[in-house]
Amino acid sequence: MTKMKRKTKQLDELLEIKKTTCYMCACRCGIRVHLRNGEIRYIDGNPEHPLNQGVICAKGASGIMKQYSPARLTVPLKRKESSERGKAEFEPIGWEEVFEILANRLGHLRATDPKKFALFTGRDQMQALTGLFAKQFGTPNYAAHGGFCSVNMAAGMIYTLGGSFWEFGGPDLDKAKLFIMIGTAEDHHSNPMKIALSKFKRSGGRFIAINPIRTGYAAIADEWIAIKPGTDGALFMAILYLLFKHDAYDHQFVARYSNAAGLVNLDPDSPQCGLLVASDSKDPLTPHLWWDPETNQAVTDHKAGVLPALEGEYQLEDGTPVAPVLELLRRQVTDCTPEWAADITGIESSAIIRLAREMIALFKEQRISMPIHWTDSWGVHHQQVEGTPVAFHAMRGLAAHSNGFQTIRALSVLMTMLGTIDCPGGFRHKAPYPQMTPPYAKPPNSSESIRINSPLSMGH
Ligand code: SF4
Repeated sequence: MTKMKRKTKQLDELLEIKKTTCYMCACRCGIRVHLRNGEIRYIDGNPEHPLNQGVICAKGASGIMKQYSPARLTVPLKRKESSERGKAEFEPIGWEEVFEILANRLGHLRATDPKKFALFTGRDQMQALTGLFAKQFGTPNYAAHGGFCSVNMAAGMIYTLGGSFWEFGGPDLDKAKLFIMIGTAEDHHSNPMKIALSKFKRSGGRFIAINPIRTGYAAIADEWIAIKPGTDGALFMAILYLLFKHDAYDHQFVARYSNAAGLVNLDPDSPQCGLLVASDSKDPLTPHLWWDPETNQAVTDHKAGVLPALEGEYQLEDGTPVAPVLELLRRQVTDCTPEWAADITGIESSAIIRLAREMIALFKEQRISMPIHWTDSWGVHHQQVEGTPVAFHAMRGLAAHSNGFQTIRALSVLMTMLGTIDCPGGFRHKAPYPQMTPPYAKPPNSSESIRINSPLSMGH
């Protein structure tokens, strides 16, 4: 063996590659961590990983600093006895002392009022474990990175659709024809989105970016629409107004797969005013009443072939005035004209109308149909899946405002109205979503009941 070969062999023996996933952001790209003698040399993308196919972004590659940054905490630190809070004067202590302090303080809280313990963790992949710990401790007060990032958006979408953007689901850019990205900061949702966008644009898709500034993904958009920060909800409401005005929404979809047809009690003297009228059915699929326009009466059963009323006002047998959820939504957006939204968003009313027209044209003229057999929640068998090829993606731009929860609800309702959820070319959930609205975190010994909601919930 030559000297050179011996050296290469020695080196090979010291080199190792560990395959894992990056968590410098929530995309969870596949990465390869290259080690020499157990020390990380560098990180690159895993070409065999389906999500990023070998692509890695600068943030992912700098994950090495999680291991070697000089600023990283390597031992537990305790504030010096002689120092005041805020002076940042710490001294290293041993783990035994740490556990003793924690056991004393946590033991006291657990024995007196566990809810006084709040657990906050950073962005890591162990939230299932930290959440389990908090629940076993007996506190519902635990959170992680997301609580300061986009959880209002995720919660708003989960409460409305049963899933959200990012790890819960995303745009089907393989089939979409129009892609609208709104409030997405710079390159947030990095590698998977970059790969999908490049394919989408190469196959002729139209990409519209709505953002206060034109950077990141917006740089390659076919059209950039500037919007005032925090006003996205007004834009969605104006588009909803136009969908109602032109009767350009997916009646079948909202009637079958949302609670848009559920009747709401409008009697101002009733304690039930504003709530869905409950049915006496034991079937969890039919928790409230609909109005059957064929027999002109309230029904619990969603009979095949009957489309429940979506608009109008009716009276139950006992005289209670009722209206479908969608009718109330229609009334809600009556004044949300494009001119009204133009004042708030800074987008010309003509641009808002054109945006709505593009969506309506795709809904009316370019529906996608694929020969895939499936059975819906009503037990009806379908020969194909259908969808409107309009996909959306939204992120921090919406989340970073106090109205983020309601803004994403408006977008979720808009997507529902276009029938572009869990269908080709629209928003597609990733397993195990969609799910019923998650119950709020509660300790295992709590006797409180779990509150749930229907998956597609437009109701109050
Ligand atoms: S996009 Fe970048 S930071 Fe996010 S998971 Fe992938 S490599 Fe890591």
